[in-house]
Amino acid sequence: MIVSKVSRAAILRAAESRRLQRLVQGHGMRVGAARFVAGETLDECVVVMRRLNETGLHANTTLLGEVILDPSGAATVTAAYERIIDRVVAEGLKANVALKLTHLGLSFDAETTYANVERLVGRAAGLGSFIRIDMEQSEHLDATLNIYERLRAAGHDNVGTALQSYLYRTPDDVERLLPLRPNLRIVKGAYLEPAEIAYPEKKDVDRAYIEIVEKGMHSGAYIAVATHDEAMIERVKAFADREGIERDRFEFQMLYGVRPALQRSIAAEGYKVLVATPFGPDWYPYLMRRLAERPANLGFLVRSLVRG
Ligand SMILES: Cc1cc2nc3c(=O)[nH]c(=O)nc-3n(C[C@H](O)[C@H](O)[C@H](O)COP(=O)(O)OP(=O)(O)OC[C@H]3O[C@@H](n4cnc5c(N)ncnc54)[C@H](O)[C@@H]3O)c2cc1C
Repeated sequence: MIVSKVSRAAILRAAESRRLQRLVQGHGMRVGAARFVAGETLDECVVVMRRLNETGLHANTTLLGEVILDPSGAATVTAAYERIIDRVVAEGLKANVALKLTHLGLSFDAETTYANVERLVGRAAGLGSFIRIDMEQSEHLDATLNIYERLRAAGHDNVGTALQSYLYRTPDDVERLLPLRPNLRIVKGAYLEPAEIAYPEKKDVDRAYIEIVEKGMHSGAYIAVATHDEAMIERVKAFADREGIERDRFEFQMLYGVRPALQRSIAAEGYKVLVATPFGPDWYPYLMRRLAERPANLGFLVRSLVRG
C-alpha cells in the first residue's frame, strides 16, 4: 500500500514535468500511449469510436491538452471542439464530447471560459448532442460548479459534470446540485490532493464512492458510474434492481484501453456503457494519470523508453 501510494504520487508529480514530457512524447505513441489514447488526430479517433459502437459501446471523446493560458489559445480549442461536435454528429456516432474547462480558459478567466463552453453546449444542443464537463484539480472545483450551474440556469440541459469521491466535500456538492436533477459522472479522482481535503486511504475513497452514487441514483440525478472497479459495478447493479431504478437513469463509463472485456460484458447484459476515448498530440499528462492509477502499467513505458 505504502509503495503504491508513493508511486502514485511520484507519477502524478512527473505528469507536471515539461522535461519528462518532451522526452516521453519525443518517442511518439509507440511508448504505449496508443493503449489509452485513440490516436493523435480526429480521423483516427473516429475509427476507434465507430469500432466501439459496433461492439455495442457508446463513446465520448476529448481533445487532449490541458492548461491554456491565453484567450487566443482558448478560442483555438473552442473552434476545434466545434469541429469535433459537428464531425461526431455527421458521422452518426453514438458519442459525445467531454472537455476540461482549463482547456477553454479557466486558468485565467472564468468569463471567457463560460462564453466558450456555452457556445459549445449551444452548438451541441442544436445537433441533439451532449457535453460532459470533466472535473480537474480541486483549485478549479468551485469555478467549474459555478459554470455548470450557470449553464443550467441559462436553460442548457444537455450538459453534465463530474464529481470526485476522494474529496471530503463531495457529498455536500451532490446535495447542492440535486435540485437541478443533474447528470453527474461520479469518479474516484485522478489528481494528487492533500489529506486536508481528500481521503488518503483507498478504502475511504471506495466507501464514499458507493455512498455518493447511491445518493445520486436515489434522488433522481442521472448518474454515470465511471469506474473499472468490478465490486462497485456489481453493487450499483444490485442497488438499481433493489430500488427499482430504471436502466435509463444511469450508465457505466470506463476508459479506452482499460478492462475492455468487462466493458463488453456489461454492455451485453443490456446496460449502457460509454468508453472515454480521447485523442490528440498532447497526450502525456493523460497517459501519466493512467499510469498512476495502476503503477504496474509503468513497466511498458520504461521498457520502450530504454529500447528507444
Ligand atoms: C470515464 C471516466 C471518466 C473519468 N473522468 C475523470 C474526471 O473527470 N476527473 C477525475 O479526477 N478523474 C476522472 N476519471 C479517473 C478516475 O478518477 C480514476 O482515477 C480511475 O477511474 C481509476 O479508478 P477506478 O474507479 O477505476 O478504481 P480503482 O480502484 O483505481 O481500480 C479498480 C480496478 O480497475 C483497474 N484499473 C483502474 N485504472 C486502471 C488503469 N489506468 N490501467 C489498468 N487498469 C486499471 C484495475 O484492475 C483496478 O484494480 C475518470 C475515469 C473514467 C473511467
